[in-house]
Amino acid sequence: MTGSGDGIDATTLFGPQGGLTYDDFILLPDHISFGVNDVDVSTRFTRSLRLNLPFVSSPMDTVTESDMAIGMALLGGIGIIHYNNTIEEQVRQVERAKRFENGFITDPIVLGPMHTIRDADKIKSEYGFSSIPVTEDGTRAGKLIGIVTGRDTDFEENRDLHLKDVMTPNPVTARKGVSLQEANEVLRKTKKGKLPIVDAKGRIVAMVCRRDLITNEEYPLASKDAAKRLLVGAALSTHDEDKERLAELAKVGLDVVVIDSSQGDSVYQAAMIRHIKSKHPEIQVIGGNVVVERQCRRLIAAGADALRVGMGPGSICITQETVAVGRPQASAVYYCAKAGREAGVPVIADGGIASAGHVMKALALGANTVMMGSLLAGTQESPGEYVYESGRRLKRYRGMASAEAMRAGGAKRYFSERDKIKVVQGVEGYVADRGSLKTFLPYLAQCLRHGMQEVGCRTLDELHKALQSSQLRFERRTPSAQREGGVHSLFDYKRPEVAAGN
Ligand code: NAD
Ligand code: IMP
Repeated sequence: MTGSGDGIDATTLFGPQGGLTYDDFILLPDHISFGVNDVDVSTRFTRSLRLNLPFVSSPMDTVTESDMAIGMALLGGIGIIHYNNTIEEQVRQVERAKRFENGFITDPIVLGPMHTIRDADKIKSEYGFSSIPVTEDGTRAGKLIGIVTGRDTDFEENRDLHLKDVMTPNPVTARKGVSLQEANEVLRKTKKGKLPIVDAKGRIVAMVCRRDLITNEEYPLASKDAAKRLLVGAALSTHDEDKERLAELAKVGLDVVVIDSSQGDSVYQAAMIRHIKSKHPEIQVIGGNVVVERQCRRLIAAGADALRVGMGPGSICITQETVAVGRPQASAVYYCAKAGREAGVPVIADGGIASAGHVMKALALGANTVMMGSLLAGTQESPGEYVYESGRRLKRYRGMASAEAMRAGGAKRYFSERDKIKVVQGVEGYVADRGSLKTFLPYLAQCLRHGMQEVGCRTLDELHKALQSSQLRFERRTPSAQREGGVHSLFDYKRPEVAAGN
């Protein structure tokens, strides 16, 4: 029996009084009967894909390229590679992530026999590594004939010597298909620092380094396909020319497409979903964005395998200000998750995740995963370099409908030739350094496990059942309740380092 002091259920929370954001409510605790590490946060991502962590990185050009996609998938989430680029570039990014094998360098830089020590020096200063495979013709298509390392060149005064005269010829190699463990064993036995992996024709396909093996981490939660390759997603527009983009992405083994629109309930999107489902049934399709139930139903009827929810909550978004259409994100997630659940289609809460607690709130409202832009844009794995501003380390972060992003490649997409007045719907700015994804994502996952333990739910399935059965209890937060829930009454304070980005 739940008394009035025990809060309200979700139906009452989202009564007719107006839309809610994540900060407008709080979850009330329930009974704890298990440890925090007993909580399982694995989840459905689409109709047929599961993830061990409910985290997705936004398809934005300051958030997800191959390094982010690799990092997200290794840690248990997934990255969606943006499309503010040429088809070739997006395909290259997806291919890099699909070909990634932990511990293997799959695209080693090579030189030819007539290159000089000076050329090797240049690579060392640019990339930081001094062991370079030498192939017949200086490309990876040529047969491997030697390897040049610091030991061969460090004490050589004449930097114009050809590599053929200083390299170690016929290095120890392993054949393509070797496991990381086997490669490790060869390095141990031969006491070598580098092991080139070659195919049947003697061409280098990868390299393994002793130093990497020593620091090599295991990723037990990694998101993988049936062939044990990392799961990778890519964004696509609803414009007809992107059918060609899709065909090229399909060739390199893309797992999932996100159709990237602020208002996904359009004839254009329904047509694109049907096209993908008929031409590439092996690829999962995420439709969106949506914020009301009728939009969800139309995209589900068109064949969407998951829905992306959010119109206007993004940190860089000015959509609600400029076009006056959208929805407060907590309400959008709650209602769309309900529509998705009725049809067995998972939903992604996209945008407006400004803290670890917002992740818990989005999932408690029925979302299966969360998509993040600003929280991930400050990690080492996002594209771009750090800059310093007033002594703080920052990274550039911008909306995909910002003037800058459109100039960088999107204008042809967002506005037809006829559009004389451009309506920009995003801004450009900076986010603070958040260190490596390898620290930050596990931290977000652990905050979520704690939240789920506090409400007595061991799995996301249990959390969603508690939401539906009204066992999950909520309370509205007044503005003063929100102030009380944050840090207050201090002269000065420091946030814990991993959470300090905002
Ligand atoms: P979009 O390409 O979907 O839409 C741009 C315009 O083109 C719209 O008017 C649309 O109706 C039209 N259009 C789309 N396909 C068409 C077709 N086949 N034929 C004719 N017209 C067509 O892009 P967008 O909605 O402007 O979004 C651009 C980017 O900005 C995306 O990355 C999106 O995620 C982001 N954004 C997101 C939000 C949000 O709140 N989630 C808001 C604004 C922008
Ligand atoms: P954030 O996590 O709050 O930073 O929001 C990221 C989300 O904002 C993305 O996943 C997109 O849905 C959305 N978005 C991306 N670019 C724009 C834009 O230019 N305007 C509005 N929303 C955007």
